[in-house]
Amino acid sequence: MTGPHQSSGAHSIRDTICNAASGAAAGAIAATFVCPLDVIKTRLQVHGLPEVRHSGVRDPIPSKKTMVLHIKVTMRSLPWFAALPTFSEYAVERGWTKCFSRISEVGWFAYFVYIMAYIAVVEFLTYWAHRKLHDIKPLYKYLHAQHHSYNKQHKISPFAGLALHPLDGIAQGGPHEIAIFLVPTHFTTHLTVVFLGAIWSANIHDCIDEKMWPLMGGGYHVIHHLSNRHNYGLYTIWMDWMFGTLSHPVSNPTKPN
Ligand SMILES: [Zn+2]
Ligand SMILES: [Zn+2]
Repeated sequence: MTGPHQSSGAHSIRDTICNAASGAAAGAIAATFVCPLDVIKTRLQVHGLPEVRHSGVRDPIPSKKTMVLHIKVTMRSLPWFAALPTFSEYAVERGWTKCFSRISEVGWFAYFVYIMAYIAVVEFLTYWAHRKLHDIKPLYKYLHAQHHSYNKQHKISPFAGLALHPLDGIAQGGPHEIAIFLVPTHFTTHLTVVFLGAIWSANIHDCIDEKMWPLMGGGYHVIHHLSNRHNYGLYTIWMDWMFGTLSHPVSNPTKPN
């Protein structure tokens, strides 16, 4: 890219296609490295445990076949997910967003205030996008049910994090891009959050409750998969707490309340 806030007319369709292809390739490479590492982490964490809380399933580790299915779905959808940052890159270059290039443009205090606002917007919009994907039956049936076909603990693996219908991924990833139209955001920080968000998606599908409160860790997200009506949030439990859909892993270990 040529840099945020630059709106040269030189941006061609070829550049956009290159950006999309690069984004998809980067996503595939990142997923190829991050997800196996998270599987290793999960295996180390559950090593020696006779069973895992919540499900009563003796072997909580998903089979190779299940993980290969997750990988196939992810690889099919990744090129479509790349459309999102490609569009936002284009919008930033055109000066349509509120992104800024250097922290010195606003100062550190404003930078941190803006980041908090950016995360709050992302949390709010992602929560409601996810919740509506459940509440509106056709959206659930045709888009989100794909991801919820892994609703048994031994069917969920870190590879399931991005194993979504393309439009489901765009609906849930979209808030990261919408936020830069609403909140002044340091562009590199935005890209970093998007990158870490993809890693986070892998992490919350490892079914491990790492006592990361108030973060929405794997212990919370597995309850989402088991109950289908709790813990819609992404990074923190904040929105579920505010809107009455929070279920703590420790409050009822065998059955979501
Ligand atoms: Zn869901
Ligand atoms: Zn999930």
